Amino acid sequence: MTTETKRYDVAILGAGPGGYVCALDCARLGLKTALIEARELGGTCLNRGCIPTKTLLHSAEVYREALEAAKFGVSATDVSFDYSVANARREKVVAQSRTGIKNLEKAAGVDVLFGRGVLTSATTIRVEPTAASAADAEPFEIEAEKIVVATGANSSRPPIPGLDSPEVWTSDELLTASALPESAVIVGGGVIGVEFATLLAALGKKVTILEGAPGILLAVDPELTKLLARQFKKWKIDVKTGVKVTKIDANVGVGAENSETAQNGEAAQNGEAAQNEEGGEASSISSAASAPVETVVSFEEKGEIKTVAAERCVVCVGRSPATRGLGLEAAGVATTARGFVEVDEFLRTNVPNIFAIGDATGKIQLAHVASEQARVAARACAGKFDVAMNYDVVPSCVYSTPEIGLVGLSESAATEAGLAVEVGTFRVPANGRAQSAGVDSGLVKVVADAATGKLLGAQMLAPRATDMIAEVAVALKAGLTAAEFVATIHPHPTFSEALQDAARSIVEK
Ligand SMILES: Cc1cc2nc3c(=O)[nH]c(=O)nc-3n(C[C@H](O)[C@H](O)[C@H](O)COP(=O)(O)OP(=O)(O)OC[C@H]3O[C@@H](n4cnc5c(N)ncnc54)[C@H](O)[C@@H]3O)c2cc1C
Repeated sequence: MTTETKRYDVAILGAGPGGYVCALDCARLGLKTALIEARELGGTCLNRGCIPTKTLLHSAEVYREALEAAKFGVSATDVSFDYSVANARREKVVAQSRTGIKNLEKAAGVDVLFGRGVLTSATTIRVEPTAASAADAEPFEIEAEKIVVATGANSSRPPIPGLDSPEVWTSDELLTASALPESAVIVGGGVIGVEFATLLAALGKKVTILEGAPGILLAVDPELTKLLARQFKKWKIDVKTGVKVTKIDANVGVGAENSETAQNGEAAQNGEAAQNEEGGEASSISSAASAPVETVVSFEEKGEIKTVAAERCVVCVGRSPATRGLGLEAAGVATTARGFVEVDEFLRTNVPNIFAIGDATGKIQLAHVASEQARVAARACAGKFDVAMNYDVVPSCVYSTPEIGLVGLSESAATEAGLAVEVGTFRVPANGRAQSAGVDSGLVKVVADAATGKLLGAQMLAPRATDMIAEVAVALKAGLTAAEFVATIHPHPTFSEALQDAARSIVEK
C-alpha cells in the first residue's frame, strides 16, 4: 500500500456510459473527480455492447446490399464477406472511441485510475491492480466525499446444466471472437438475441432462437413482430417460443457430416437427417461443409424434450448487476434481492453520500439511460437537486432488419393502463422514400389519448426507425398532440413522413 491517500470530492466506480459521463459532468461542476475502471474506458457499451454490435451489423448490411445490388442496376460479382476485416474494423472503431473518452476526461481534469475499486467504508475505496493497471501497480486507497457506483452489469448465465461451459458463448465472447460460427442456437429472443440473430443470418449463418416467453421482443407491438417474423423466415431464422432450455451439451464433437438441425435428440447425436415441424427435411446448418456441429441444446416444447444442434450456443438472457464483491455491505448500501442498487430520483442510495447509476441500478438497462442518470447524479453530487430522473420518455431500439424504434406507451400498454386511445398506422411501403429505396415491409403505429389528442407513444418497424424515434421522444417530452405533430412540416421524401402520416390518420379520422 502506498502511504499517501488521495482525497477527492467524488470517486466514480466504473467508466461505462454512466461512469465516464458522470465524471465529466462532476469535473465541469467544479468537483475534484476520480474515475476508477477495472477494464477499459467506455464499459460494456463501447467495448462489448452497443458500438461493436452496430459496427458489425453495418458490415453485414453492406454485404446484404452488395448481394442485392443488381436490382438497383449495380453489378457486383463475386461478393464475399471477410470477417477478419469487419472484425479489425470493429476493433479500430472501439479503440478510437476509447481514446476519445480518455482525451475528454483528461481535458476535464478527471483522474482516471485503472484498477478494481472496492468500498472499504462509505468514504474510502481500495483500488486493486487488474490487467488494465500499470505492470508495477500496487493496491492503494483513496478517500472521497461522494461515491458513485457505476459498475454496470454482466451477461447472466441461468442455472441450466451445461450452460457454464466455456464453449457456450455470451455476447462478450461472440463480439470478440476472431470468427463467427457457421450455425448458432441463440437462447433468448430479447433485443440482444434478435440483434445477434440478424447479424449471423445476414451473413448466411444458420440461426435458431429459443425463447421461453410466448413471443420474441415482448415490448414490441405484435403487428410489428409479425412483420419481423417474415424477414426472419426469409433468412431462415428458426424461432421457437414458449420453450424451456433444459440442458446444453457443449463440444460434443459430432462430425461435419451430421451438420443438420435436429428436431429430436437421437437424430442430432446420430447424425441422421431430422424432420422439421412441417415434416420436411430440416435445412443444413452449416454453409461451410467442414464446420463441426459442437453443441446440442435440449429444450422442452409442449411437454416434449427436443434438441437442436449447432456449432455454438449463444446465451442472451439478460444482465445481472456487477455489484458482488464491491464492498457495498461494508458501506451499508441497500440492494435488491438480485443485487441491483436501490436509488431514488436523484440516484441517491440509502447511504447519503453514495449514489448509483446505470445498469447496476436495474432501472432500464440502456446506455442513454445510464448517461442521463449520470448527469442527474453529477448535479446531485454538486448539491444541485433541480433535476430529478424521469423514466417516462425513454426511446429504445432494436437493430434488426428492418430496425425497430419504440417510445412511450404501446397500444396494449395504454389500454392496460385504462386509457382510451386512438391509434394511427401507416404502412412503410406506401411511403415515397421507401419506394425509391425498394423497401417492401414496415409499419408505423402512433398512439394518442382519445380524450385530449396528446401523443402517448409510437412504435415503428422501418429503415432508420432507430434514428426517427427520437423525433417522437421530443414530441412526447413537449406534450404535443397528434394534430400539433401533423402540423409540423416534414421534409419530403423521407421515411419520417411515415410517422407524420400515421399521426395524420388519427387527426383525420
Ligand atoms: C451486446 C449488447 C448490445 C447492447 N446494445 C445496446 C444498444 O444498442 N443501445 C443501448 O442503449 N444499450 C445497449 N446495450 C446496453 C448497454 O451496453 C448498457 O446499458 C450500458 O453499457 C450500461 O452502462 P453502465 O455505465 O451502467 O455500465 P457498463 O457499460 O457495463 O460499464 C461498467 C464499467 O464498470 C467497470 N467496473 C465494474 N466493476 C468495477 C469495479 N469494482 N471497479 C472499477 N470498475 C469496475 C466495468 O469494467 C465496466 O467498464 C447493449 C448491451 C449488450 C451486452
